Amino acid sequence: MRNPKGLAVLALPLVVLAASCGGSGGPGAAAQAPTPTPAPTPVPTPAPSPTPTPSPTQIASALSQDDARIGVCVNMANHLEPPNEGDWGRAILDTDFADIAAQGFETVRIPVRWSNHAAYTAPYTIDAAFMDRVAHVVGLARAEGLRVILNAHHYDDPGGSIFSNPAGETERLAGLWAQIANRFQAEADDMVWFEIMNEPHDQLTHANLLSVLEPSLEQIRQSNPTRPVVIGGEFWSGVGSLSDLPLPNDPYIIATFHSYDPFNFTHQGANWVDPAPPLGTTFGSQTDLDDLAANTAAVADFMANRGVPVFLGEYGAIDGIPIDQRAHYYQTMRLAYEGVNVDGCIWGYTNSFAARDQNTGQWHGEILAALGL
Ligand code: BGC
Repeated sequence: MRNPKGLAVLALPLVVLAASCGGSGGPGAAAQAPTPTPAPTPVPTPAPSPTPTPSPTQIASALSQDDARIGVCVNMANHLEPPNEGDWGRAILDTDFADIAAQGFETVRIPVRWSNHAAYTAPYTIDAAFMDRVAHVVGLARAEGLRVILNAHHYDDPGGSIFSNPAGETERLAGLWAQIANRFQAEADDMVWFEIMNEPHDQLTHANLLSVLEPSLEQIRQSNPTRPVVIGGEFWSGVGSLSDLPLPNDPYIIATFHSYDPFNFTHQGANWVDPAPPLGTTFGSQTDLDDLAANTAAVADFMANRGVPVFLGEYGAIDGIPIDQRAHYYQTMRLAYEGVNVDGCIWGYTNSFAARDQNTGQWHGEILAALGL
């Protein structure tokens, strides 16, 4: 069994990411704060597809790996991708981005659940107040000089799931991106990137990834011909997805992957995983380091073979792990990936896998130091 973040490093029992049931956070609970997860539905192993996975080819990229060096980056986790802002922790404050920039972060990844804030019939109009809220947040980040990676996250709602019904939601996703692309058209290309769909999984695999994402890319390109567009692969975009990641023939694509390895360490006690990995796992064994070396080598291979820039969109270790262990993990990961010219975004900020205490507002100095800040 692969772990839910896509790597076959660990033999895990069935695990569920209960994105639609609270993801990594819910109101009220301590630290990590997810809502108790209803009876888990096992993540189905994607059935072998009748369509052969397209063989990866090199595309003529206009970007280099330098363009993907985003500095130290933080995910604004559990703010705009819960069903509604505030459901999984506090809302974003206008002052947050000045605080983030002051610490030395250069980039923020902003996960956004657009899918439940939009009409279900064409042209799939996004709720104006929600669009304005996202634009306000992006504007705040830009005003502080931060680069923004704006995505679509958790398209997994009672009204439709792109993960269980990719073909059925493809046109709607493109309709959403047409509006997002228009709204942010004036932003500088190098400072606002679009990421079409966070962590493909379930029925959204490499076999159908391009057919699902390319209509969105076409919409984006009508208004944003040279904006970097980020694409991650199947099985929650784990490192293992890079080797055969299908990419559109577009010169402004940046690839991404996520790494929560070793999953039993980073997700110990996570109540959206069933069964939750037990508490008390430490990080830093020789096996952990060997696995990390294999992962960074795989990412280096991707760069060498595909000629497409790449960054690490999510890595992190859950609240509740002793802070020195968390810091050790962040530092080890950062340095290992910097060693292959890859920068990463920690998951997250203050609501989940916190770098900053949600109640006191105090930064975890150990984590900042681990990030070299
Ligand atoms: C998911 C979150 C989850 C995090 C760590 C993210 O990609 O969207 O819900 O908390 O990964 O598992």
